[in-house]
Amino acid sequence: MEEPRPTLLIVDDEQSIREFIHELFKDQYDILQAADGTDALVMLESEDAIDVVLLDIMMPGLDGFEVLEILKSNPHLAHLRVIMLSAKSDVDSKVRAFAAGAVDFVNKPFEVSELAARLNTQVRLSRADAELKQAKSDAESANRAKSEFLANMSHEIRTPLNAIIGMSELLTTTPLDATQRDYVGIIETSGNALLFLISDILDYSKIEAGMLELHPLRFVLQDCVQGALDLVKNKAWEKQLRLTVELDPGLPREFVGDDHRLRQIIVNLVSNAVKFTERGSVAIALAGQEAASSSSSLSGGATAAGGLETERVYRLILTVQDTGVGIPREAQSRLFQKFSQVDASTTRRYGGTGLGLAICRRLSELMGGGIEVESAGVPGQGSIFRCTWLMPAIRHRQAIGSGSGGADGGRALVVEYGAVRDPAVTPALDLAQPTDPPPRLRILLAEDNPINQMVTLKLLKHLGLQADVVNNGVEAVEASKQSVYDVILMDVQMPELDGIGASRQIRQLPPNHRQPRIIALTANATADDRQACLDAGMNDFATKPIRMEKLVELLL
Ligand code: ADP
Repeated sequence: MEEPRPTLLIVDDEQSIREFIHELFKDQYDILQAADGTDALVMLESEDAIDVVLLDIMMPGLDGFEVLEILKSNPHLAHLRVIMLSAKSDVDSKVRAFAAGAVDFVNKPFEVSELAARLNTQVRLSRADAELKQAKSDAESANRAKSEFLANMSHEIRTPLNAIIGMSELLTTTPLDATQRDYVGIIETSGNALLFLISDILDYSKIEAGMLELHPLRFVLQDCVQGALDLVKNKAWEKQLRLTVELDPGLPREFVGDDHRLRQIIVNLVSNAVKFTERGSVAIALAGQEAASSSSSLSGGATAAGGLETERVYRLILTVQDTGVGIPREAQSRLFQKFSQVDASTTRRYGGTGLGLAICRRLSELMGGGIEVESAGVPGQGSIFRCTWLMPAIRHRQAIGSGSGGADGGRALVVEYGAVRDPAVTPALDLAQPTDPPPRLRILLAEDNPINQMVTLKLLKHLGLQADVVNNGVEAVEASKQSVYDVILMDVQMPELDGIGASRQIRQLPPNHRQPRIIALTANATADDRQACLDAGMNDFATKPIRMEKLVELLL
């Protein structure tokens, strides 16, 4: 494509000079003229295609320096390339011009060939600038499009995964021979692996787009740790690793923070430790100390979260120590960059995306802390990952080690998996607890996808429960008016009226209407989605694919 002709603005109070320059360059340039500084500024405001300005210094009204100052202080005009053209040849004037943002300085009277060459240079630079700006803006919008695409893909992939994982879970409850059981196990494990992968990709695309945010809510620290270990304990058990957890008993019971993200960090670090350790142990310790004494807006606005009163901010320190392959010193500094893995052979042996630690680092930074690694790089001597967060605690609450079910105040709570428990210690995190069957409930399932309907109904049936089914939000509102439900399992994306809109309408039913508990079941897995559901009056939130265990927990 042919480049458009460059445009030159000549600002000079002497008409003869303007005309002279016009004659010289009219074949190469589109030329505009201004007789004083004010005219020049008006012209610059209305013309956006000017490449270079030739600016006289001594003019009546605004002089060249003043024009330059105004121009550079205006964000729309600051990029313009200005060549001063002046009879003033003293060093001070030149220094002043460059300090004010001029890109060149030519003395009058000028050599025609020199001015031509200087103009030419500035036009080239101006074009290169414009191209760079365009390329940057293209790259930014491509990046935004990529993030959106990844978010959409993740949603689309989660929905069929829901069916795959749900159905294989159900299959395990039917009579199967050993081979069939193996096959189903592989389907389940692969489905879960895929799910983790998708979540990591989604998170990383959000980090890159600067869109990863924390959603602080009040939570029980111990439950968060337990939730994380629920997800990794089996792997440790399969590898016969000793998994120990030690919680500082002096820590407050409740904090305000994004427990969902906190759990994600713990899961990432502990599953790495388990993954890269063939024998020995993985020791997890969570300790902390007071970091500041006043209410704080840390963790993304703690006091704003439901108007909770927080008092002391704690620096929490998580240590995950393993006896695995270790990490060579030279690889340690790049570990926290995205896609970084120690080496190809490790990668082949262990798999993974190399995103987990990059996500942990970003999340920890958002929580006012950081992450570091320590390893001698000797196989068998393992690695230590240390992660810190700043987090406000809830005022007037018990410490973890106080009250029933806890250990005595001075003693750390230690729980072991995969080895015999120390009988002297009351387990703080009892993962072997049997789950009670959920009570009889009147349930409404609002879900448009027939496969998802079937999966959820079958999971419910397995728990001895039934549900009425509707296909969209409008039907859900109608059904809520007609019958009394204890629980509505509400898909979020539905035709006609989505789950958010339906929940809002249900919450506005007359006061004598017995309100159901509404649980969002959705493939949208972001914290924003979760908040949107809660804001619409839903009580709880679960991402698809929903697991039997999770369903029981929610219903209970
Ligand atoms: P992934 O585990 O998916 O590859 P991560 O970002 O979680 O991605 O980890 C990046 C790399 O850091 C891993 O591939 C591995 O090489 C190394 N690594 C992480 N944790 C450990 C550990 N506990 N022991 C040894 N190497 C580790």
